[in-house]
Amino acid sequence: MIHNYTNQDSSRLKQVSKPSDLIDGYDRQITYLRLAITDRCNLRCRYCRPESGVPFIPHQEILSFEELEHLIGIFCDLGISKVRVTGGEPFSRRGCLPFLSRLRQLKGVESLHITTNGVKTSRHLDELAKIDLDGINLSLDTLDPKTFWKITRRDYLASVLETLHGVLERGIPLKINSVLLEDTSDGEIIQLADLAKNYPITLRFIERMPFSGVVRPTKLENGHLAERLKKVFPAIEEQTSTLPTTARIFSLPGYKGKIGIIQGYSRLFCQTCNKLRVTPAGMLKTCLYDNGALDLKKMLRSNADDNEIRAAITSCVRNRFANGHEAEKFSGRALEPSMANIGG
Ligand code: SAM
Repeated sequence: MIHNYTNQDSSRLKQVSKPSDLIDGYDRQITYLRLAITDRCNLRCRYCRPESGVPFIPHQEILSFEELEHLIGIFCDLGISKVRVTGGEPFSRRGCLPFLSRLRQLKGVESLHITTNGVKTSRHLDELAKIDLDGINLSLDTLDPKTFWKITRRDYLASVLETLHGVLERGIPLKINSVLLEDTSDGEIIQLADLAKNYPITLRFIERMPFSGVVRPTKLENGHLAERLKKVFPAIEEQTSTLPTTARIFSLPGYKGKIGIIQGYSRLFCQTCNKLRVTPAGMLKTCLYDNGALDLKKMLRSNADDNEIRAAITSCVRNRFANGHEAEKFSGRALEPSMANIGG
């Protein structure tokens, strides 16, 4: 059954305007921080993490909420205005919701978002709506229960769909992220895209990236995602954007929402990349593919003062790689074993 959600309004998506002092050597202004608050997750998506064999980071090695809030204050002083809380699965960490409420109050955080797999999220939606969260990115790769099990090794599709509809009901801006795998059929693509046909959301297909030991690229990871979509949806039309964006967005006649692609493997959006990441263990990454640019936890726990931390962050940003290919080339060791250790 298709519901009519009248309170989903994409104009609610705030454009953050505050200029940032964080500018890299390629004139990219950094305004966006992705903060992974845990490496724990209640799914085991086969492209993300093996069922076992990737040990969890010991609790004491994960930044405490106090440390995270302290850091966000420093980042906002420097010019960050958009914060996304991610993981692992953010709601796998106890205290995530009160943390989000406190972030909402933090000076400088103009725009607050989360990325979630939706498994445990529905129970928190009233509170998330109350704090006026600016957006939820929900990860959902299939609408078929058997395929969901095959991909995630868990049986939680019903809970994820409950979250999806709960988000729409409450009018929280929603984007859905779907990793496209080599065996994703055209039928599944159409089924997922129907979510954007029926609801005012953006459904983004993501190229699989070489984390979790999967390195062998398929045709899809080599820039063919747009071609595949054009084949499935001949009437698709690309939209232009002047804003920094990782996604290429397309409209389709008769669709309430939009379809997008994120070419994280091809790395075609690095020129406009405006983000930094902090991993659950407190490592600053200036690129998804770098090796960690700065050990923020070490600085915090050795009582470095805020000026020193600010200067170290600014210096890392200045030395940022031109793009993800360079970052990977110079990272000097194998990439992370899972996106959950980085913060997707
Ligand atoms: N647990 C939350 C979730 O599922 O949205 C947040 C963390 S998860 C690591 C963030 C995103 O990274 C998800 O959309 C997931 O599908 C994506 N991801 C994980 N591993 C990936 C990979 N190897 N290639 C592409 N995307 C990946």
